[in-house]
Amino acid sequence: MFLSILLILAVDPTFQVPSSVQQGDTLRVTGNPTGEAHVIFAEKKLRLFAHPSGISGLVPVPATLAPGQYPLKITDATGKPIFTQTVEVRDAKFPIQNIATTSAMTSLKPAPGEVESIQAFLNQVSDARQWAEPFRTPTPECMNSPYGVQRYYHGKPSGNFHRGLDLRSPLGTPVKATAAGTVKVAHMWNYTGGTVGIDHGQGFTSMYLHLSKIAATEGAAVQAGDVVGYVGSTGFATGPHLHWGLFIGGVAVNPRKWVSIPACAEAAPAPRKAAPRKRPARKV
Ligand SMILES: [Zn+2]
Repeated sequence: MFLSILLILAVDPTFQVPSSVQQGDTLRVTGNPTGEAHVIFAEKKLRLFAHPSGISGLVPVPATLAPGQYPLKITDATGKPIFTQTVEVRDAKFPIQNIATTSAMTSLKPAPGEVESIQAFLNQVSDARQWAEPFRTPTPECMNSPYGVQRYYHGKPSGNFHRGLDLRSPLGTPVKATAAGTVKVAHMWNYTGGTVGIDHGQGFTSMYLHLSKIAATEGAAVQAGDVVGYVGSTGFATGPHLHWGLFIGGVAVNPRKWVSIPACAEAAPAPRKAAPRKRPARKV
């Protein structure tokens, strides 16, 4: 009896962590310990959550994180490191996209509280996991601007990158929740336009922007596939499309690592390092 307790105590914590990822990927971390633990990666600290055989969590790899080797550390309730592994972040070779912004677009400013409200939504972490795979695509159309694109305005780097996917969806197309969750944002903002934000639990959130009409109310529970709004071109957009974003711990991750969405045939962005092409403006 005593020996078996000693043997149990002697079991080292073990974790499964991928050794190599791309910019914009989501790292899945699972391990055998139980109890409170955090994972620290690229200066971000996130909670791990209980699951049937231990603890698990999702770690975002920012699109802007320079390629290279980074330590991933897991700490226990006291902050003591219990696991460390090096993770290689590979260059995703995000393309460049030039946007010919209109004066109406460049003069568009977020409403008072808009940026703060959205950031507060993205940073909150609720305990209960409501999401389940597979995720659903919010509209059935193809993608005409991928995640991670470096945005140039009139040929000059803007410093912005595309924090989600743009789906070429006609005006009025119903927009469906990608997974179950709780609606935390349902608001017509200046910059993001008609905006719905859903909290899927344990740090996972999704956003749906530029909606012509909002069909969800703040605080409401939604199931995967419930209609939360309709496609529009409100806010920083020049034509109807759905901007769909997935976030983990407030960091935008690549939705195409979670769902399969074909690129629109005639909308391939310019290859990286090539001279940006003049293209009609769209989106945020
Ligand atoms: Zn967009």
